[in-house]
Amino acid sequence: MVPMNNLFYKVRCGMERFMYGRNGTDQLNIALLVLYVALCLLQGVVVMLLPYPLVSGLFSILLAVIIVVMFFRIFSRNLEKRRRENARFLGWYAPRQRAFSAWRARVRDRDHKYFKCRGCGARCRVPRGKGRIEITCPRCGGKIQGRS
Ligand SMILES: [Zn+2]
Repeated sequence: MVPMNNLFYKVRCGMERFMYGRNGTDQLNIALLVLYVALCLLQGVVVMLLPYPLVSGLFSILLAVIIVVMFFRIFSRNLEKRRRENARFLGWYAPRQRAFSAWRARVRDRDHKYFKCRGCGARCRVPRGKGRIEITCPRCGGKIQGRS
């Protein structure tokens, strides 16, 4: 009898051999997985509100397409093309992620108030509780008036 450890080892080696030279998972695939889960949850709500076969059918097709694309990308041997797709996705996603982090930091910062310059869009940070103030934008020199 083959010991179980040995069997698991063989299965793992087989998987590794199968995945060799294939794309595997990357940030774009993780995003697709998140999108898939989000759409599943959304589907539950939408189908409850609009109980039509067309609506649930469209969701099923969309979810199936996402799964197919995900597996296609995981098993793909065209690494160059998959890397370019992932890089393009990160180019779109990274600035949004940064903007979201910056927004969260501003919301959590109770000691300062943030003003956005109307001239150049720069964010100016001012200590709270100083009353009516006029700030000079450090980037473009424009005046910002507000209450801190
Ligand atoms: Zn400015």
